[in-house]
Amino acid sequence: MKRRSFLAGGAVGLAGLAGLGRPATPWVAATRNRQTLVIRHGTLYDGTGGPPRTGDIAVDGDRIAAVGEVAATGAVEIDARGMAVAPGFIDIHSHADLSLLVNPRAESRVRQGVTLEVVGQDGSSIGPWSDAGFESTRDRYRRDFDVEIDFRDVGGFLDRIDRERPAVSVASMVGHGTIRGLVVGAADRPATASEIDRMRALVRDALARGAVGLSTGLEYTPGSFATRDELVALAGELRGTIYPYASHMRNEDDRLLAALEEALHVGRVAGVAVQISHLKAQGERNHWKADAAFAAIEAARAAGVDAHFDRYPYVAYATGLSNLFPASARAGGTARFLARLADPETAPALERACRDKIALLGSWDAVQITRIGGANAAARGRRLGELAAELGEDPYDLTVRLLRDAGGSVGMIGFGMSEDNTERMLAHPLGMVCSDGGAYAPYGPLSRSSPHPRGYGSFPRVLGHYVRERAAMSLESAVHKMSSLPARKLGLRDRGVLREGAVADIVVFDPDTVRDRATFDDPHQYPDGVAHVVVSGVHTIRDGEQTGELGGRAVRGQGRAARGRNPSGN
Ligand SMILES: [Zn+2]
Repeated sequence: MKRRSFLAGGAVGLAGLAGLGRPATPWVAATRNRQTLVIRHGTLYDGTGGPPRTGDIAVDGDRIAAVGEVAATGAVEIDARGMAVAPGFIDIHSHADLSLLVNPRAESRVRQGVTLEVVGQDGSSIGPWSDAGFESTRDRYRRDFDVEIDFRDVGGFLDRIDRERPAVSVASMVGHGTIRGLVVGAADRPATASEIDRMRALVRDALARGAVGLSTGLEYTPGSFATRDELVALAGELRGTIYPYASHMRNEDDRLLAALEEALHVGRVAGVAVQISHLKAQGERNHWKADAAFAAIEAARAAGVDAHFDRYPYVAYATGLSNLFPASARAGGTARFLARLADPETAPALERACRDKIALLGSWDAVQITRIGGANAAARGRRLGELAAELGEDPYDLTVRLLRDAGGSVGMIGFGMSEDNTERMLAHPLGMVCSDGGAYAPYGPLSRSSPHPRGYGSFPRVLGHYVRERAAMSLESAVHKMSSLPARKLGLRDRGVLREGAVADIVVFDPDTVRDRATFDDPHQYPDGVAHVVVSGVHTIRDGEQTGELGGRAVRGQGRAARGRNPSGN
């Protein structure tokens, strides 16, 4: 009996015909009449953005063996009637990184339907570290999580992911800030020519070992100390590949458009693709800039730069509390930052800058404390204005005290974006969906903070709130932004689509009930409506629960073998 057949005449039949021209593929064993897994009668959103169609999907090993009407039975059969079936979601800007080793079940990620995390963002990657950087990370992970760090760069991290097999797959960018910290240190000065050469060699090495782009974090130290020319020089190492220069830009509020122009300039002059990280316009007085930002990105594309952006579906961002102060205040490291806050010479200017930032956000209650340890743990989850009033303390003095008591390490959420812009950015044809969040769980060590809810809810929130409730975009378009669009951006030809031969990363969700449940006040909550998640063929979520079987693996870039589409990228 023929192992599979396709519906004649309909759209499914066309998909079948498209497959006929291809040679037999090794993962379709002709003698097998039994598949690992068959998902039946689902509404298939294949990732391309085209209209859905009804059909089955067969998984054999780690690949999709057939899409259409599947005659063979599966060792596991899923009835997906009334459910949406989509490629597993790709988080193009994730901060899961080392937490995937702390809890390999990656609960808050895989339960959203995420199957591939793109980490190493905002200029910060897993190495390359100095001896001291490696030792401090190793000691901290031993002490806090009982996790042994036995690698010191992106290549070593990817090797470890392959050994550990967490619930999700992992690709990584290499971080400019990490490299600058290693080569130049924490100083606020331009790099010398020989330092630039050394940094370029480190970017080259990371690409050769599987990095899928270069990220920058230009609001953070030490990335902020780079000149535009340094960024062009380092991004130049991506030339001839498809991999993007991904930038958390120098500014996302009053100087947003200049910062965007810089990022696009880097792409244009270096001749490389650009990914603008978490595009936003902070502060009500800047909300009008969304349209100007779209126009700038579209103009860059017209001029030959393969530029896109990503965005998470919330009106608040998350960062360190120290980012209420300008990057120059943080030059030289945390100890010097805290000293400047206390020094009567420098303190007044810092206070003014901080109060200006608060004015931009609207009020002290626009800031919520997330991560804080020690004596002030009770501040976790609280708004600064409210807390200060309760304590009878000036909110600025409270901010400085919290920073000082925690050695500078305090996390915050800032409410500064507009709902309207958020919706339009998510719906824009050049926009991809990201979480910008970490991996958490409501139990164990990853439950010990009050994180931004995006780490739990981003993808279901787009599907529930922005697609179903607000009709900001079609479901097929949303799926496209979570799957084949990011896959194409990273040159991953066999991911992000439901197609015979593609890696079997699949999510089955109920389009009528899918929704995020994590909130700013109560973030540790899994979403609803995500019924099944398959990662590299491994049935990881079954009927909404983790099976405990982990299928993630490292996804390595192909270096110069993955050619760019950018005509200037040769
Ligand atoms: Zn960022």
